[in-house]
Amino acid sequence: GELGVQVFVQQMQHARQELLNARGHAAADRDGEGVEAEVANGVHGEGLGAIAGFECPSGADAGVWQLENIRHFTMELSGLAVALNSECTSVTCPKMKATDEWMYLCAAHKQPQECSAMDYIIHTLDGTCSLLTSAKWFPSRSHIPDSSLKYFQSIARRLYRILSHTFFHHRATFDAFENKHQLCCRFVAFAKFFDLIPPKLLIIPETAFDPSSQE
Ligand SMILES: [Zn+2]
Ligand SMILES: [Zn+2]
Repeated sequence: GELGVQVFVQQMQHARQELLNARGHAAADRDGEGVEAEVANGVHGEGLGAIAGFECPSGADAGVWQLENIRHFTMELSGLAVALNSECTSVTCPKMKATDEWMYLCAAHKQPQECSAMDYIIHTLDGTCSLLTSAKWFPSRSHIPDSSLKYFQSIARRLYRILSHTFFHHRATFDAFENKHQLCCRFVAFAKFFDLIPPKLLIIPETAFDPSSQE
């Protein structure tokens, strides 16, 4: 519900501020653009053809680079959750689906549950945020243990479902958000670049978000 989303957004803003502080950008980032520009400007507005924008900067740890990008996408997806909040409810979307072929169980619980789509979205973003800031799995900001890399694929698959639910059930909101932020386009480019999601699971048609695919 409304309150849940507000609390969630506050948590995400808090996490974001911690990230900025940790990276030493707090002073230079009053307008909130600093890390965005640094982390996720790879393919902005240029379509999937420009996936080279996600290449790890030389000298940086590839795992850390993926982690920072995923963390950033998680925060951007929370903005999409806010945009969906008034129209995606337990009445309109009592189960988390993209197409009718699959129903997704929410993995944020001890036993996976049939959460409503909005609950699934919030629980997934919240769980991802905690996992990525976990000192147990990600103790260092300069290196990711091999045993933790495996999480990136399952995280990416779950985050992608937020986009696919929005596309198949809230198309107008998907289009408006995508026009403004190119989030799906950048996320898919990122997932492809690092092989995080098998192509057959990328079910949103690329023509819906990639201008270059229509040419
Ligand atoms: Zn929905
Ligand atoms: Zn849940």
